[in-house]
Amino acid sequence: MNQRAEIPLPITVKLPTEPPPPPLPEKERARLQERIKRLLKERNAVLVAHYYVDEDLQRLAEETGGCVSDSLEMARFGHDHPARTLIVAGVRFMGETAKILNPEKRVLMPTLQAECSLDLGCPANLFIPFCDAHPDRQVVVYSNTSAEVKARADWVVTSSIAVKLIEHLKSRGEKILWAPDKHLGKYIQSVTGADMLLWNATCVVHDEFKGELLAALKRQHPDAAIIAHPESPTAVLEQAEVIGSTSQLIAAAKRLPNKQLIVATDRGIFYKMQQAAPGKILMAAPTAGEGATCESCAHCPWMAMNSLTNLAEVLETGANEVHVEEAVRVKALRATQRMLDFAASIREKNHGD
Ligand code: SF4
Repeated sequence: MNQRAEIPLPITVKLPTEPPPPPLPEKERARLQERIKRLLKERNAVLVAHYYVDEDLQRLAEETGGCVSDSLEMARFGHDHPARTLIVAGVRFMGETAKILNPEKRVLMPTLQAECSLDLGCPANLFIPFCDAHPDRQVVVYSNTSAEVKARADWVVTSSIAVKLIEHLKSRGEKILWAPDKHLGKYIQSVTGADMLLWNATCVVHDEFKGELLAALKRQHPDAAIIAHPESPTAVLEQAEVIGSTSQLIAAAKRLPNKQLIVATDRGIFYKMQQAAPGKILMAAPTAGEGATCESCAHCPWMAMNSLTNLAEVLETGANEVHVEEAVRVKALRATQRMLDFAASIREKNHGD
């Protein structure tokens, strides 16, 4: 095998060094919320927030006609909404995806420092030669990647449709090069049986969930259902009754008869999950334990960088605009649009079934 064809070792990802913003006094929170609502109207802007950001931001998005969702729905919503400015509360790749789809719109983020360990763990300068060394494979990348990586891909995909897309490609006889999340890739491979070459990155939040501790918690709560995001390690997924994207986990929380749920994903999701399943008791899956560093403790350190304060500032000043070089954007759009078209075809098929 030539040198470039080997999967690079996992890349050490640096976590943010600054602590998350401290909680604000009630009066200050209310003042900022009012200011943001006024500015959103004045600036013809809409707030698009991910499930993992602070509850205050999720609530504001709901109250102002924006959206709180997973990354696929965020992309779709931002694309369809008539506002001239999109405020993306999440991490960098989400802002970039909004820009890829909406070059004519202004895309702002409360912070441009919010990264993602999957994106950082798959740098374009290593990934592109790796793809070039495997020309016989369809390159499928998770949405948690940079615009440059998307530009090299044949397909972009989110966790909500990843299994279906790989099944589709397998049915066409395609072999897959999958990046960046190795746990998600391994899970899809086990479900579909597709020939998949996996990149070697992980999410700092999901990678820390511990199978043994989860089993112990389940023994304490035998009636609880375990629901897990597929970015979690195999030892966690093997115990889960439901494995799915953030939106699919929220739907499962509502649907399952169990009163108690053990949730293996970022605890930011509890805000919308509790809304969807008001009578249920939600427990975070354990992350600590012997040898564990608990770097994230079930909450993404980059998502936590989004706050009422930096959101208000960005709306006021127009700072933190997301730019994607046009040549890269055009290439990245091809694979991203394929994802949206594929997702739409699944929805149509489901309606028709
Ligand atoms: S939770 Fe994980 S996958 Fe999501 S943005 Fe944070 S590091 Fe990335």
